[in-house]
Amino acid sequence: MSDASYDVIVIGGGPGGYPAAIRARQLGLSVALIERDDLGGICLNWGCIPTKALLRTSEVHHLVTHASDYGLKVGSVEVDLEAVVKRSRKVAKRLSNGIKHLMKKNGVDVHDGFGRLAGSGRVVVEKDGATVADLEGRSIILATGARARSLPGLEADGVLVWTYKEAMIPKELPGRLLVVGSGAIGVEFASFYRDLGVEVTVVEALPRILPVEDEEISKLAHKQLAKQGIEFHVDATVSSLEKGDNHVTATIQPQGGDAKTEPFDRVILAVGIVGNVEGLGLEGTGVEVDRTHIITNEWTETGEPGIYAIGDVAGPPWLAHKATHEGVLCAERIAGAPGAHPMRTDRIPGCTYCRPQVASVGMTEAAAVDAGREIKVGRFPFVGNGKAIALGESEGLIKTIFDATTGELLGAHMIGAEVTELIQGFVVAMNLETTEAELMQTVFAHPTLSEMMHESTLDAYGRALHI
Ligand SMILES: Cc1cc2nc3c(=O)[nH]c(=O)nc-3n(C[C@H](O)[C@H](O)[C@H](O)COP(=O)(O)OP(=O)(O)OC[C@H]3O[C@@H](n4cnc5c(N)ncnc54)[C@H](O)[C@@H]3O)c2cc1C
Repeated sequence: MSDASYDVIVIGGGPGGYPAAIRARQLGLSVALIERDDLGGICLNWGCIPTKALLRTSEVHHLVTHASDYGLKVGSVEVDLEAVVKRSRKVAKRLSNGIKHLMKKNGVDVHDGFGRLAGSGRVVVEKDGATVADLEGRSIILATGARARSLPGLEADGVLVWTYKEAMIPKELPGRLLVVGSGAIGVEFASFYRDLGVEVTVVEALPRILPVEDEEISKLAHKQLAKQGIEFHVDATVSSLEKGDNHVTATIQPQGGDAKTEPFDRVILAVGIVGNVEGLGLEGTGVEVDRTHIITNEWTETGEPGIYAIGDVAGPPWLAHKATHEGVLCAERIAGAPGAHPMRTDRIPGCTYCRPQVASVGMTEAAAVDAGREIKVGRFPFVGNGKAIALGESEGLIKTIFDATTGELLGAHMIGAEVTELIQGFVVAMNLETTEAELMQTVFAHPTLSEMMHESTLDAYGRALHI
């Protein structure tokens, strides 16, 4: 006999799991959610939110140290690191508590512990080595997320070599910091620490930083961040980390060049993530795992009827909004809700909250060309926009890519102030299958940064007004 029976059991209370639970309740299903740690998952507790709180501090620091550019005189600025970290943790805690409230409000039964499949339609909850609940579920959603990946010989020790967790709660600022990996997480930490005065070196194995971004944008990001003093080694790997007394000697191996060793105070490993699939009881089920990610179809269904997987554990892109969208879609699929439709993975935006910010959606120029599309490309620089100049943020670019035959907006790529807010305009446009005509006919408020979205579209058709 089980302790309780539910329509849906969700394992994992991150931005995939908790929205799935809420949506399932909205659709009239009974729901249990199992979480072994804090509600909100990596995103709210150790990812998206606390890093953005830290990056707000470094942004304010940058503004205050450049106050004279705005006609203000301020005294010297000191970093109170303990208070910086405390604020970030407080923001995370507040949001995690908010999820607790949402679960209660929506009537989701939250079970504290580790969830494990235990036979057909059965899930046990374990805490401190003991089984604390035995649940029955008609449908089970695996939303267990992911954790930092380590490379052989480059394992984090939490003291000298950090994962994102330790990088978020430093006790003191390192003098010299090495960041291994230049995806969004690596670049955000590089930007945060650099803005607080740390000497930062970033090593990237691929030929350019932010490798998933459009090449032009990633080159501009490299240029801007290098101008701020971040040292980049691309086409290079860190082949070893030798730990000493409160420092690490890294061997940096450029492709086809001579290795060199450099001392650092701390190292951040940002070389990707692995899915949390261990101990879940997948053995003997039809759930298939590719390396560390659960294989699903476009409806989030695994190979085992009645078992679904969403979010980071179900593979890339490893983004909170992808997890949330999959959670909602999954609950609607389970409930047989009318209007449910699979996610368009080509319309998921990606954002990096470094300074300057980077944001994109859809095809890069190279991907569009590789796909055999004939394209029209528009560009508009921040320096041509009144609001950008008034803000003192005149460096950046908005690039748009249209299908030359149909006018379909295929992709948008941006670098500069506030572009992580602007990108959603293009995401909505793409979702509405907008062509250049609707974008051109849209009235954009003046003065705003969004006017550059208009101008970039106009530029693709040789009609830009301000360049
Ligand atoms: C430093 C950093 C910054 C990031 N910034 C951004 C950003 O700005 N924007 C963005 O979109 N994404 C960002 N991400 C990625 C984002 O955090 C993830 O994509 C997102 O959290 C995935 O959600 P999820 O629900 O799939 O998994 P998670 O958030 O990992 O949640 C999974 C939950 O399941 C629980 N769990 C695991 N196994 C079990 C089990 N067996 N039983 C019970 N509970 C279990 C875990 O404790 C966890 O709470 C960032 C990540 C990091 C590390």
